[in-house]
Amino acid sequence: MARSDRRRRLDAPTTHHRPTLIPVPLIPLTQTHHPSAIESFDRFRAVAQGKLLTVFLDYDGTISDIVSNPDKAYMTDEMRDAVSRVASLYPTAIISGRSREKVYDFVRLPQLYYAGSHGLDIVGPKCDDDNHVELHQPAPWAPAVMDRVYLWCKEAVSDIPGANVEHNKFCVSVHYRNCEQKWWGAVQDVVHRAVAADPKRLKKAEGRKVFEVKPRVAWDKGKALSFLLGELDLRRRYGYAEGEIMSLYFGDDHTDEDAFHELREAPKECGAGVIVSTVPKPTNARFSVRDPGEVLVFLNKLADLAESGVTKSLCTSVASGGAKSAGGRGEGVKTGEGVKTGEDAPGGSDSSDPVAETTNRGRRGEAA
Ligand SMILES: [Mg+2]
Repeated sequence: MARSDRRRRLDAPTTHHRPTLIPVPLIPLTQTHHPSAIESFDRFRAVAQGKLLTVFLDYDGTISDIVSNPDKAYMTDEMRDAVSRVASLYPTAIISGRSREKVYDFVRLPQLYYAGSHGLDIVGPKCDDDNHVELHQPAPWAPAVMDRVYLWCKEAVSDIPGANVEHNKFCVSVHYRNCEQKWWGAVQDVVHRAVAADPKRLKKAEGRKVFEVKPRVAWDKGKALSFLLGELDLRRRYGYAEGEIMSLYFGDDHTDEDAFHELREAPKECGAGVIVSTVPKPTNARFSVRDPGEVLVFLNKLADLAESGVTKSLCTSVASGGAKSAGGRGEGVKTGEGVKTGEDAPGGSDSSDPVAETTNRGRRGEAA
């Protein structure tokens, strides 16, 4: 299609492609169902007492502010210090939609686990100056496909003012944060067409002012969280009984609901999502904070709990001798041992994924 023709098409009314994700519907019960993690910290402390915490963090909008230019979503030094402090006490991971290389460039803490591209690229802590330990890539074929998707989308949105395409290695994000609302439908149409060109291998997803092309595999941030918990293997390594480990996931976006849901399914008081939001909305998170500033406060409170002996920490776990049950591997949590290779899953159909909104589970429907 000639560019002039395409421009006319993009200028035309696009009501049938109007995005449906905004505004997020509000429900009045939300504040009751996931109270402020700051204001109800005493309640949280009672649940966490005597347990080892594991901490999972989304990046954009959670430990960094949402900004108009995604390449400049820097985290503050104060936040970096807080995350580093938490990671010295509890197993800690970043699970982001960004490529893991990009999110690492922002965070720059080698001792963390990183799951980039919505968990499609998982690595352990750096084992030397240069290399992370690769742990899992459920769609190893995706980067080559996304190279082509990226170039196509970049050309397709070139005449949509404000649209921005980001290559996140295992997925491609098309941002419309800087577009006037009249262009949102046109941006969505571009992503629809990109997916329609290879529907057996690609699917569409939505986030905060972003549409995404992702590999059609049954994998999400929730599965990445479960994988990392399995990789950490804390019960075997430290001899913890069931109920002595509590996992926390912090996130602000629709894709984080998969992780919140995963923790909802965990045994009682062994997991909790913390949603970052200034407005009430449907969620599977148990607690809320308003913004990254409150995430910072809460992370430091978590560190205080370990340092005051209320919760267990990696240090006390090693000192307890519980690692004997893991054959002396107690030091392994931060070294990323137990390397697994990626699994081929091209075309691995997840066509059973719900297309419609499933608000009761909080999962985001995807118009694949
Ligand atoms: Mg986010």
